[in-house]
Amino acid sequence: EYKEIATPSRTKEILKQHGFSFKKSLGQNFLTEPNILRKIVETAGIDTHTNVVEVGPGIGALTEQLAKNAAQVLAFEIDDRLIPVLEDTMSPYPNVTVVHNDVLKADLVGTTKEVFKEELPIKVVANLPYYITTPIMMHFLESDLAVEEMIVMMQKEVADRISAKPGTKAYGSLSIAVQYFMEASIAFIVPKTVFIPQPNVDSAIIKLTKRDKPAVEVTNEKEFFKLTKASFQLRRKTLWNNLIHFYGKDEETKAWLTKSLTEAEIEPSRRGETLSLIEFGRLSNTLEKNR
Ligand code: SAM
Repeated sequence: EYKEIATPSRTKEILKQHGFSFKKSLGQNFLTEPNILRKIVETAGIDTHTNVVEVGPGIGALTEQLAKNAAQVLAFEIDDRLIPVLEDTMSPYPNVTVVHNDVLKADLVGTTKEVFKEELPIKVVANLPYYITTPIMMHFLESDLAVEEMIVMMQKEVADRISAKPGTKAYGSLSIAVQYFMEASIAFIVPKTVFIPQPNVDSAIIKLTKRDKPAVEVTNEKEFFKLTKASFQLRRKTLWNNLIHFYGKDEETKAWLTKSLTEAEIEPSRRGETLSLIEFGRLSNTLEKNR
């Protein structure tokens, strides 16, 4: 009788057979609950017309469920000890390609072109290594890879920050960096008890859907992101204090900031966390115009 990889008994068997020991430094917390994996695949809407990129397959618990539903799965795994394990566990699934590489160093466009036989919509599905959640998200967002959706598990706290609305405590430059490109919502919460080893915090599955065009039209994307980062540097200070802290306190800079804030109709006494994406866009555009 065939047992799914994610069942606790099969997971333990595989780990024992390969003498595998977890590396905390690589964020290794493996999912051992087939129902949650199925729910992830369902949320992601994976079918035979979808190619999937996975980050960190581990021993293949999620990879197996993806392989059963997707056209092809490309999985990046950094830990060389897991490569022979995956060769073994993925042998029933010819549509899985494991690439031994740090995903942050991977050429996403080149590798997907090489591996995927058909040009189908691409979705990123992963139980992310928590120590580099944000860098991985940014690596995908900033790459030229056309990702239709990302359905990824991360610490609940980071998922809250990514999906946060203006005026809330969790809202910050990460919310903006992601929501500029994608629509973000939390699909469901995953308790820490379904992992081995158990992490210290609960997790959430976040669903990110690519917007047809960015949430706001900006004349200079790089400067827009600089502005949003700068506006949250000193958390409890006003927007004005953050802006002069970042751009400079000299009279010329102050005049430029005042003129632009007035034109953008944004009160300098507000706090960065109250500004919407649209308002940040407007301010960025007036700053550029008046430079
Ligand atoms: N997908 C498996 C699961 O759900 O049970 C394992 C998830 S575990 C949270 C994270 C995985 O990412 C581990 O297998 C770890 O070795 C791998 N990993 C960590 N850093 C990585 C990196 N920079 N690039 C690729 N994989 C990485």
